Amino acid sequence: MSRVAIIGAGIGGLTTAIGLQRHGWDVSVFERAPASSPVGAGLSLFANGFRALDLLGAGDAVRTIAGPAPQHLTTGQRRRDGRWLATTAPEAISALRVVHRADLHRVLAGLLEPGTITYGKKVDGVPGGYDVVVAADGLRSPTRGTPVRYRGYTSWRGVTTRPVDLLGGAGESLGRGERFGLASLPDGRVYWFGVVSLPAGTEFPDEYAEVRRRFDRWHAPIADVLDATDPATVVRTDIHDVAALPSFVRGTTVLLGDAAHAMTPDLGQGANLALEDAATLTHFLGALPIDAALDAYDRTRRPRTQALSRKARTLGRLLQSRSPLRDALLRLTPAAVATRELTGIQAWSQPGVPSGHS
Ligand SMILES: Cc1cc2nc3c(=O)[nH]c(=O)nc-3n(C[C@H](O)[C@H](O)[C@H](O)COP(=O)(O)OP(=O)(O)OC[C@H]3O[C@@H](n4cnc5c(N)ncnc54)[C@H](O)[C@@H]3O)c2cc1C
Repeated sequence: MSRVAIIGAGIGGLTTAIGLQRHGWDVSVFERAPASSPVGAGLSLFANGFRALDLLGAGDAVRTIAGPAPQHLTTGQRRRDGRWLATTAPEAISALRVVHRADLHRVLAGLLEPGTITYGKKVDGVPGGYDVVVAADGLRSPTRGTPVRYRGYTSWRGVTTRPVDLLGGAGESLGRGERFGLASLPDGRVYWFGVVSLPAGTEFPDEYAEVRRRFDRWHAPIADVLDATDPATVVRTDIHDVAALPSFVRGTTVLLGDAAHAMTPDLGQGANLALEDAATLTHFLGALPIDAALDAYDRTRRPRTQALSRKARTLGRLLQSRSPLRDALLRLTPAAVATRELTGIQAWSQPGVPSGHS
């Protein structure tokens, strides 16, 4: 039986473990945190993410926590006073669900054989004695070993403690160098994020008070959403990405998820791409000798993930822009163009085994 060590029990590590265990691999996951501890925030899962979960055999389990599409919500971009700049065609996001990260981790970990994950185990270097080592150790992956790049903006995320009426609208509202996002979770609680352009290393004595100072006077129900949030649960995250790597593979060690291609969160695709990575790596390792499988993984995953990373960075720059031209551009972009872009990103399917192998 082939043996794999997976460094990191994030979304990428957990789903790779699920996929390889289903292919009969002996899987060990090592996680430095003492227990599963995802940040208290939401996560958008798109059609491509669900397709990858289905290939991994985890789609139905995740659908139980994802719920149906929220009804009667217009989504898109608004001004800070609430006037719409652009709305998203419902067909472009019919598969989109926003889930709580803690629910997703719980469901994914529950699909693994008991004892697969060792918590409180920080891996230094590449562990020996395995046929393959998967480094799913996130943005600051020591295995990758290249620096992260601060992209000039920071974020705060939170989830309300109770349902809040979104008054029919979701998506992002745009100020000058500032944004606020709203999304409905399946139980009616609201996942929100605030994004602000700031010099690297800026700190505030009270992060929640800073969010309120900046966004309280924006359109309803933003102040109500912040009222319904426990200040102690608000998470601050500076936005980084990593430079494109020449390869995701070193010998029999393979980078996956943010370790390979951390990107700015502007497309909401980072975790979805980690799911695609997991489905693709699993597929190739199930069908090909190890060297050929890792090579096929690298060749299929790098172009797509690096192109989407560039796209996310460009979109982030536009959305954080202080220029009034930004609003004009959003207003004037035909809905059909935006729809094509969104559906194009989600139109991912599992590549086949390269010819020459059976
Ligand atoms: C503000 C923000 C909002 C986002 N919103 C979305 C969204 O809506 N939709 C979306 O698809 N993506 C989103 N993303 C991106 C998404 O969070 C990431 O792409 C995704 O979590 C990556 O998963 P991962 O498993 O690769 O890495 P991680 O989730 O970072 O997991 C890495 C794991 O490795 C562990 N680890 C690290 N080093 C070691 C070590 N040496 N030994 C053992 N364990 C180790 C860590 O503790 C961690 O548990 C967002 C990101 C940010 C910053």
